[in-house]
Amino acid sequence: MGLLSLKGFPGTGSFRHGVHPPDNKSLSAESKVEVMETPDTLTLPLLQHLGVPCKPVVKAGQMVRYGEMIGKGEAFVSASLHSPVAGKIKKSIMVTLPNGRHLPAMSVQTQGEQVSPHKIWADMKSKDWPRDCISIYDPFTIVKIIHDSGIVGLGGAAFPTHVKVTPNDTRMIDTLMINGCECEPYLTCDYRLMKEAPRAIVAGALLTGRAVSAREIVICVEDNKPDAVKKLKEATEQTVIKIAVLKTKYPQGSEKQLIKAVIGLEIPLGGLPSDVGVAMSNVGTMATVARGVIKESPLTHRVISVSGRGIKHPKNLFVPIGISMGEVIDYCGGLTQDAARVVAGGPMMGFSFSNFSTPVTKGTSGITVLSHDEISNEKETACVRCGRCVDACPMNLVPTRLALAARYNNPSIARQYHIQACFECGCCTYVCPAKINLVQLIRTGKKLVASGAK
Ligand code: SF4
Ligand code: SF4
Repeated sequence: MGLLSLKGFPGTGSFRHGVHPPDNKSLSAESKVEVMETPDTLTLPLLQHLGVPCKPVVKAGQMVRYGEMIGKGEAFVSASLHSPVAGKIKKSIMVTLPNGRHLPAMSVQTQGEQVSPHKIWADMKSKDWPRDCISIYDPFTIVKIIHDSGIVGLGGAAFPTHVKVTPNDTRMIDTLMINGCECEPYLTCDYRLMKEAPRAIVAGALLTGRAVSAREIVICVEDNKPDAVKKLKEATEQTVIKIAVLKTKYPQGSEKQLIKAVIGLEIPLGGLPSDVGVAMSNVGTMATVARGVIKESPLTHRVISVSGRGIKHPKNLFVPIGISMGEVIDYCGGLTQDAARVVAGGPMMGFSFSNFSTPVTKGTSGITVLSHDEISNEKETACVRCGRCVDACPMNLVPTRLALAARYNNPSIARQYHIQACFECGCCTYVCPAKINLVQLIRTGKKLVASGAK
C-alpha cells in the first residue's frame, strides 16, 4: 500500500517471521456497524476475562437497571460484570464457551423500559468526545472508573484493563500503544470502529495515557486500512497522539510483535510490555474507556464482525454482551449451504464451536463461518522436516518439537523448548505442508506443563 509511516519511532514497521494469509476483509469491511435490538434474554458468564471469576451481587428474581453491577470482580485480576439491559435476574446456569470452558453464568430477562442500544452506538460515534479537557480527570479517578466499569481488552485476550493501568512503583510506562492492527483475517470490527467512532478512541487513548503517565501515545494500524488511518489522523489533529502505520503481516497485532515493530524493543521471555515501558490496549477498549469515564457507562455492549463465506450476509454489529451466537448468526441471514466450520473470533486464533446458544462475551471479536472451500480437508501426514513452521514462528520457537513433546506427553522437553512462550498464533499450523495441527497439540502441551507434570 506504500503507507508505511513510522516517523519518530525506532522500529522498522514489522517483525521477523509471521505469515501472509489472505485477509478476506473485503467481505465485511464496507458494512457499516448495525445495531441489534435488545433480545429477550442475555446469558452472562461470571468469567469473561483473564483472571478470577467475579462474584454475583444480585439474586434470582431481583430486578436490575441498565448498567447495574451484577457480578463483582473482587480479586485484583478480575473484572466486574454489568447488566446490558433492564430486567429480571433468572436462576444461574452453566454455559460452555467456545474455548471449552464450562462456567456458571447469570441470565437476565429483559423487562421494563430500556436504554436504546441505538442511542449507545450513536453516542459512541459522536464527534463530541472531548480532546482538550482531559486534564480535569485525575489519573487515580480514571483507573478507578476503568476498574468499576468492568473494562477488559476487547481485542480478544480480555485482560482486565485496570491491571494494565494501575500505577506500579517498579515499572514506569513511557509509551501507550493503542492496537488497531486487527491482523486476523476476516475480522473488521476494529476497522469499522476506527472509521465510525475515531473520536471516542482518541478520547479513551488520552484518558488512558493520563492514567499511566505515558510520555508518548501511539495508535498502530496496518497499512491495509488506509481509510481508518485517514479518520484517525483527522481525529488526532492537535493532540499529542501519533499514528504508526505498519506493514500488513500476521500476527502484527500481537503485543510482542507490535512493540518490536514500532519501538524496536523485545519483551524478555516470560515478561510483559511494562518491562519495556509500554502499556498496550486495543482501539475498542479505548472507546469503552471513554464511555466509562466521560459518560459513566460500564462495558455492556461491543462491536463484533460476522464474516466468512459460510454466512449469508457478513456484517459488523453492535450487540449487547450475553446475546447468543445463534441470534447473531440468524440476524446475518443464517449459514449458507456450504458452511463447514463456525469459529468464535478469527480463523487463526479462534475456537470452533457448534453450540449456538453460547453467548457473545467481552472477548468475542467476531464469528467467522468458513465454507468447505475455505478449510483444508486434507489428512495429516508425517512431518517432512521442512522447517517451515520454524521459519513462520514469530516467537522463534521450534513448533515441531513442541508438538512432538505434547503428543508424547513429555512436559520436560516442552519446557526445555519454552512451550509457554507460544501465544497460539497458529502460523505454524498455517504453513505446515503435512497438515499437522501444531497449535492444537501445543495447546495440549501447554496445559500439561501448567499442570506441573514432570
Ligand atoms: S509455536 Fe506458537 S507462537 Fe510459534 S507459530 Fe506456532 S502457534 Fe505461533
Ligand atoms: S512445517 Fe510441518 S512438516 Fe514442516 S517441519 Fe514443521 S511440522 Fe514438520
